[in-house]
Amino acid sequence: MNPTQTIARKRDGHSLTRDEIAAFVRGFVQGEIPDYQMSAMAMAIFLRGMNDDETAELTREMLLSGTTLRWSANTPPKVDKHSTGGIGDKTSLILAPLLACCGLQVPMISGRGLGATGGTLDKLESIPGFRTDLTPQEMCDQVERVGCVITGTTDEIAPADRKLYALRDVTATVASVPLITASIMSKKLAEGLDALVLDVKWGSGAFMKSLDLARALSKSLVAVGNQMGVPTTALLTDMNQPLGRMVGGTVEMDESVAGLTGHGPADLMQLVVALGTELLVSAGAAASVDDARRRLVDELNSGRALEKLHEMVKAQGGDLDAPRPLADESTVSTADEGLICSIDAERLGLAVIEMGGGRKRLGDQIDHSVGLQMLVRIGDHVQPGQPLVHLYAAQPVSQRLRGLVQQAFVIGRDAAEERPLILERHGESGVG
Ligand code: URA
Repeated sequence: MNPTQTIARKRDGHSLTRDEIAAFVRGFVQGEIPDYQMSAMAMAIFLRGMNDDETAELTREMLLSGTTLRWSANTPPKVDKHSTGGIGDKTSLILAPLLACCGLQVPMISGRGLGATGGTLDKLESIPGFRTDLTPQEMCDQVERVGCVITGTTDEIAPADRKLYALRDVTATVASVPLITASIMSKKLAEGLDALVLDVKWGSGAFMKSLDLARALSKSLVAVGNQMGVPTTALLTDMNQPLGRMVGGTVEMDESVAGLTGHGPADLMQLVVALGTELLVSAGAAASVDDARRRLVDELNSGRALEKLHEMVKAQGGDLDAPRPLADESTVSTADEGLICSIDAERLGLAVIEMGGGRKRLGDQIDHSVGLQMLVRIGDHVQPGQPLVHLYAAQPVSQRLRGLVQQAFVIGRDAAEERPLILERHGESGVG
């Protein structure tokens, strides 16, 4: 079957066979299938969807387009967490060293900011000297020596995803559940994992604004992970306001350091412990959910998790004790009285980008010293003149920026809808 016939079959709503998917992905990576045919295929998948088997095959072929990390025999289980991204989401910075303290090994390949969300790598680069460009061999050596690594992807890992994502980005085909699933899972499964947990976020600060779409993505990610032999669970979590209090490079790094001694904000610490519990149980490294939670909290309170972050940062060329500059502080207040009914978290992320804390264009330099601190949460009662956020800005704060931040807060009379941070969990591990 030639590529045009395969595209036509997908366009007409047929399921593609393993061989058709393999031939298509391999041909694309080798340059035999041109970008225009892959773009047409991406659109056909976008419009017609894929079943779990097709999505798993697409993931497998994208994974096989590159290298997989190889681990020495008889070493601790390898685990990782992936978040679909949110404003103020710094859980990886706490979770990787914390899990390493609990006897697991964490080869975390992370990303940069996408849209309004900050990237874990960008936050880590607020640490002077920190390297995020380790080779696969350096990654493996560090994981086996230190217990954890957080670094960027390399050309060797899932090259099919990089090539396909570039097309999806310009053909309006990013927001497709099977394509996102294959993209995320091909990179994560290349880490050679024994267990994976996904934090699928929904809401105003998430990639998935709709709960239904986030739920579909979560289930699809879990199905593919398990089908490919890696115990995979997911938490569907609320991203209708920033996670924790801080948004930005240095301020999020500082909040993570506080979290690593157990002193982080309640929502952030709840999520860290919940995600960590999933992995300890899935990897068979905890006897029960209670045992997992107790061990995570012990490692945080003992200060060992923070020591582990120091060790990881040093191994990657950085110094966690070196000063991390913070821009000048100013305050944005409200003129209104009432309840905080909702927060447009994406708008707050965009405000940080506007201050230079994120990229407007590929390759832009990030100013890690800028950011913001949330002073209110959904459901709080505010008075006229009450501060909503502290801004850390390198330039004088313009009226436009102030307006952008103020408009992120909807203040009214109606009590805000109470939403749990962790709405649902998907997957089969022993966590109840
Ligand atoms: N993140 C990814 O890695 N891939 C996607 O397709 C979307 C978000």
